[in-house]
Order: sequence, then structure tokens, then C-alpha cells
Amino acid sequence: MSAGKWENNEEIQIFQEYLRIPSVHPDIDYNSCVEFIKRQAESLKLPVEVVYPAVKSKPVVIIKWLGKEPELPTIILNSHMDVVPVFPEMWTHEPFSADIDEEGRIFARGTQDMKSVGTQYLGAIRLLKASGFQPKRTLYVTFVPDEEIGGQLGMAEFVKTDYYKHMNVGFSLDEGATSERDVHHLFFAERLRWGLKLHVSGTSGHGSLLLPNTAGVKLNYVLNKLTKFRSSQVETLARDSSLSVGDVTTVNLTQLSGGVQSNVVPPHFEAVFDMRIAITVDVVAFEKQIRDWCEEAGGGIEIDFFRKEPYIGPTKLDSSNPYWLAFKAAIDELGLKVHPIVCPGATDSRFIREKGTPAIGFSPITNTTMRLHDHDEFLQADVYLKGIEVYKKIIRNLAEVSQTDKQ
Ligand code: ZN
Repeated sequence: MSAGKWENNEEIQIFQEYLRIPSVHPDIDYNSCVEFIKRQAESLKLPVEVVYPAVKSKPVVIIKWLGKEPELPTIILNSHMDVVPVFPEMWTHEPFSADIDEEGRIFARGTQDMKSVGTQYLGAIRLLKASGFQPKRTLYVTFVPDEEIGGQLGMAEFVKTDYYKHMNVGFSLDEGATSERDVHHLFFAERLRWGLKLHVSGTSGHGSLLLPNTAGVKLNYVLNKLTKFRSSQVETLARDSSLSVGDVTTVNLTQLSGGVQSNVVPPHFEAVFDMRIAITVDVVAFEKQIRDWCEEAGGGIEIDFFRKEPYIGPTKLDSSNPYWLAFKAAIDELGLKVHPIVCPGATDSRFIREKGTPAIGFSPITNTTMRLHDHDEFLQADVYLKGIEVYKKIIRNLAEVSQTDKQ
């Protein structure tokens, strides 16, 4: 299997062209992405629009395939245009050249996360159009900016626009994660992201004494409690192999500051924690527990939850969700294995779910070394092309969910 074989493939060429646009953080110029997507829409003979929900430099590009029953709720096929930074010296291929090696591996930032999905949707639509298929529901292929930095000026704002409202979205498909096995991970929910900063105050003085209520002793008390809780989550995961990290609550001390010199007991310490709360947790009780620990530590601790995402209900994977049934039927027909999990990180799907709209995160990439955000990110050309076939079936089924189905 030589690289030349793939380089003549039209779908691979389109994918490579997209990968060669360095839409990499920070300070991304999205213009080349917008132009590329416009050209793709033109070749598919589909209308395309660009909207700027937050600022002029953060476009959302929307390709529309009008359904035969346009009054029905629509389907969004979403992907993000941005990619995370690279350390070029750690790569064996230039990260924005999209080289194909002798094994058919395409190397570039974005091959797995997630430019592949963006152009695979388009490849699937190309096949569907060629077969004469016409969707019942309107399909939107959306390309959003800034997912990798939280989506605050991207999807978070887009879902608030009148444009989005008029799209009348019934279901959204977005990114999943690369699987190293033959089982596709499927995201149906996300944990709540919390950020906690503790300003711990205490008695200060000479480092040779045993002063009461020092900031260090108080911080140590709270840190022990949080670490013990963290250990309980490690144990829960270890006990049950059916669980993944998205099913438990993670707590990590990420920043620590304070103190001036080694023989001075300082009046303050500051500690920052990254917390991802499992969707099964009683968040009111969890917060109270943290506040109680701070009191037990001796008080004088200012508690600042600088990030506290609200609870967002998971997307139902049962017969009450006709889109899930349609999706599952496609997966079953293709003989694919899926493992529904709570996404351990965060994706743009949460903004859609927050609107009460079902959203699934899916990746067609299996049996591939996980290189999301890593050096030498790659995707095998044949895995890419197979993904187009997978999406063809999924998109077809989603577009055909009928009005009479419960929704
Ligand atoms: Zn991504």
C-alpha cells in the first residue's frame, strides 16, 4: 500500500487540503477555513452561510441541505475548525503538511481531533447526493471556532442567536474520541466542570514557633479531606471495570501559591483545584461538604468557585429518543460496537444539551493509536474513508426520522 495510491483519492485530497490550513491556537485566522468550506459547499451544490455570533474574527460556517419536510426539527452535524498547538520538533512529519507515509497514515494536527469528522460529513453527503437520496429533515453541517479553548466565543454564543433558533434543531451529532480498540466510545453526557480557589488565611509569624491556626495547617486539613475523597474515586474506578473516568468525580490540586521566605509563616496560601463532577453527584451536598471542611479547618478560608457549571441532563439513549433509535439502527446495520460513556472532558455538545436538545458525541475512528492533542497525530487513510461510509448510514437514518416518531 503506497502513499501514491491515496494521494489520487479525491476524498483524501479534500481532507489533506483542510489539514493544511494551520487553524491552530492561539490567535487563529479562520478565513482560510471559511473559504475552504465555502468551496466544499459549492462543489456539493449546497447553500452556505457564515455568521459571527460573538465577534467578527470567530465565524460559524453553516452548510444547509434542505429537507423534503423542512418544518420538522433539523439535524446538526457539528465539528470545530480549530486545533490545539503543536511542538513541531517532536513530530516526525511537519504537522500541517498532511504527509501520507507508506502505510497510508496521514500525519497532521487535526487528523483525529477533529477536522476528519468535518470533511467526512461532507464526503458522506456527497455519496448520498450521488445516490439520489433526499433527506426528509433538513441537515445542517456546522463548523464552529474555538472549541479547544472552551467555545465561549463559538458554540456557546451561537446557540443563543436567532439564527440558531430558526434552525429548529432536533438533534446534534458532534465529536467523540479515538478508540484504540474496535469499540466506539459514544458520549451522551458530560461531567460538570467546577473550578475552586481557596484563599486560606491564618496566623503569621516566626518560622521557629508553633503558632496556632496557621494558613498551612488549615490548608493541610482541607487538602487531606479532598485527597481522601479523590482516593475514594480512584478505588471506585478500580473496583468496577465497566466504569470509566467520566463516571466518577475528579479532583486535582492544580495551582498553589503563597509565602515569602523560608523562616516566615505566611498569612495566606492560595490553592486552586480542577474538579469534574460526575452527573450522579448531589451537587448541593457536595458543595456543602467542601464548605464544612473549610469550617472544620478553623475558618478564615475564602471559598471561590470561579467556575461552576450547572447540571445538564444527559441525552437519553432509550426508546423515548427517536434520533438515538435511528443512530443505533445504523450502527447495528454496520455491525459496529459502541460503548456509551460520559465524556471525561468537555465538548461543544454541552451547549446543545443545555438547550434541552439531544446530542451525541461520536468518532468513527477505531483501532487507532490515540493521538488527540499529542505529537504525530495521524489517521490511516482507509480508516478515514471507512468513516465516510459510517456517516453515510448514520446521516441517512437521522434525516429519515419521521414526524410520527415520538420526540
Ligand atoms: Zn475536538
